[in-house]
Amino acid sequence: MTAERVAEGALTLDSRLTTALGGRTAQALQRAWGYTTVGDLLAHYPRRYATRGELTALAELPLDENVTIVAEVLEVRERTMRSRRGSILEAKISDGTGILTLTFFNQKWRANELRPGVRGMFAGKVSDYRGARQLAHPDYQLFDEAQPVSGADAAAVRWATAPIPIYPATGSLSSWQVQNAVALILDGLGPVEDPLPDGVRSARGLLTHREALELVHRPERDVDWKAARRTLRFTEAFVLQTALLERRAAARAHEAVRREPAPGGLLERFEAALPFELTDDQHAVGAEILHDLAEPVPMNRLVQGEVGSGKTVVALRAMLVVAESGGQAALLAPTEVLAAQHLRSIVRMLGPELSAEVMPTLVTGQLPAADRRKAALRVAAGQARIVVGTHALLGDTTSFADLGLIVVDEQHRFGVEQREALRLKGRHPHVLVLTATPIPRTVAMTVFGDLDVSTIRELPAGRAGIQTHVVPLAERPAWRARVWERLAEELAQGRQGFVVCPAIDAKVAEEADPPEGEPAPTAGPAASVASVLAEVRANPNLADARVAPLHGRMAADEKDDVMRSFAGHDLDVLVATTVIEVGVDVPNASTMVVVDADRFGVSQLHQLRGRVGRGSVPGLCLLVTGAEAGSVARERLDAVAGTLDGFELARVDLELRQEGDVLGAIQSGGRSSLKLLRVARDGDLIADAREAAAEVLADDPRLASHSALAAAVRRRLDDEASEYLSRG
Ligand code: ADP
Ligand code: MG
Repeated sequence: MTAERVAEGALTLDSRLTTALGGRTAQALQRAWGYTTVGDLLAHYPRRYATRGELTALAELPLDENVTIVAEVLEVRERTMRSRRGSILEAKISDGTGILTLTFFNQKWRANELRPGVRGMFAGKVSDYRGARQLAHPDYQLFDEAQPVSGADAAAVRWATAPIPIYPATGSLSSWQVQNAVALILDGLGPVEDPLPDGVRSARGLLTHREALELVHRPERDVDWKAARRTLRFTEAFVLQTALLERRAAARAHEAVRREPAPGGLLERFEAALPFELTDDQHAVGAEILHDLAEPVPMNRLVQGEVGSGKTVVALRAMLVVAESGGQAALLAPTEVLAAQHLRSIVRMLGPELSAEVMPTLVTGQLPAADRRKAALRVAAGQARIVVGTHALLGDTTSFADLGLIVVDEQHRFGVEQREALRLKGRHPHVLVLTATPIPRTVAMTVFGDLDVSTIRELPAGRAGIQTHVVPLAERPAWRARVWERLAEELAQGRQGFVVCPAIDAKVAEEADPPEGEPAPTAGPAASVASVLAEVRANPNLADARVAPLHGRMAADEKDDVMRSFAGHDLDVLVATTVIEVGVDVPNASTMVVVDADRFGVSQLHQLRGRVGRGSVPGLCLLVTGAEAGSVARERLDAVAGTLDGFELARVDLELRQEGDVLGAIQSGGRSSLKLLRVARDGDLIADAREAAAEVLADDPRLASHSALAAAVRRRLDDEASEYLSRG
């Protein structure tokens, strides 16, 4: 580190790293993680803490990852290379069991440092060289300089047991370079105002922010960093919840048009003609929505409910209330197939008379230009009071006369920013978000904390249910033939089926990569639509079946044709990718075969399964896998087969998958991602923080007397905004 020392106490969390550190270090930090301020760097918390006395288990090191380990030098030797001029210095380091080789080219002099018996930290990327693990040109820091002479005194014990922070590092910025930069910053840091109000902090026995920052980065004992983490974790939750609640309040600060159903109006007429009774949950959620719509503030509500729980009907009721008052409602769907399907089912549910009045209109990018122009005109003129579309709705060519309600189907495929883009097309329209992925309460609070949440738990009566079986090819290879037999038996009864594959052809995977951080559970290429289609067509049992492929690389009208044929029972089997995951509704479909099921996530499988057993026909779901008995992959499949409870599966998913996957694009990866908070573990803490944040905001909505909290919220939102910008 080349920085000149900054005057003691001169730094604040908003100071630029370029002033606080040398330009080179600041640049490296910005390149590595986008950090520009002191606050950014101080929120780069150690991943874990090592001690000099401990040794890292070398046998478990992951290949191709940057690691920082503690180990002891065993031996060093130098050899000349045969093929090239020069020498290689090889040092073997050990944790007492495993051995790792460090290699340096033309750096003989390192033998003076790397003496047998010396301990230190070593960092680099683990590679495999002829079956042995090695670090080529690792960075290292040896412990011996400071080792006290006598092993018995207190100083020696402290030396051996003091926690050493291990930071997330990159190939060009080692853990101890980060540590040094942080130390410089902490030395120069002035007083730090606490984002936590005193009362909130003391009630929970937490440290001050300054203490927590000091102890998380420079602990002397384990209790230090533990207490620091506890404080910082709560602070993170508290700032996040304050930001979300503020955003919620800001959205509600606008005036929205009240939309109320009138006696004898569209809603009443629709309900009178509905061929079924709404479930209790549909009634309850519907009442919440109607209540929101009648308020002069914009609704911002998330409705979650299993596939087939009847969310569309609930949304349609809301759309009719808005249409009734002369406004327009727009339903945003994630794909062309779904948009077209939504339009069809809306027209069907409304019947000819109501349809003629509200003129449901499709707006997608794939419409022929003339149709699209016509649709755009109807929408702009306000004749189309129900508009269904894809991203095309967000474009400049679509404008509304009086957009009163936005319904977003399947939240997961849309970002906050897209919701925002559509919102700007009306004057503070009401917003309803539908999702079939059950969202555990903590995730809802963390990711959708600015929305109100309604839940439809019960499925409409009269569903015949779904049986799910794992087909374990590892033990029972012959069952593959049995799968096609079962499918043929279902078809023989006049039913239809889906066969879902993880890939389109031998090369192209589609949206079914294994959950981040997990290895592909089965080796070899994933089963593809192309190969399975050939297999199905070649199967004598299925010789009469009308089979077609469906995947994301087909043209939209082609996909739509296939879906329409399948819905009209002109096709018996679709061999498809996950394009059918969301929303496709064919009540006569009874069978869902998922090939290489271990390549899909738990929630995704549950979604796929939801495509069958939707009518009075009992569903059958076969999860075909080559994964070995006892593997994690099999455990996940067994979990899906074991329950139909989407909330339970969402919980399993949360435990098994990486945080980033669960939170999706909104939170993953970038700078605004969660630091110490884990939604799978910290539910109670998040709820506590939300309550505390709500209390503070109730007394002081503008945070006028909580300037440090306001600043922390602003930093958090800035991070999000710049992440959004950098994502384009
Ligand atoms: P979701 O959008 O939640 O997946 P849908 O609204 O598409 O569910 O409903 C699935 C099917 O169930 C549709 O065919 C719909 O007409 C039907 N349905 C919805 N609500 C009920 C109900 N209360 N009773 C019977 N059938 C219903
Ligand atoms: Mg739906």
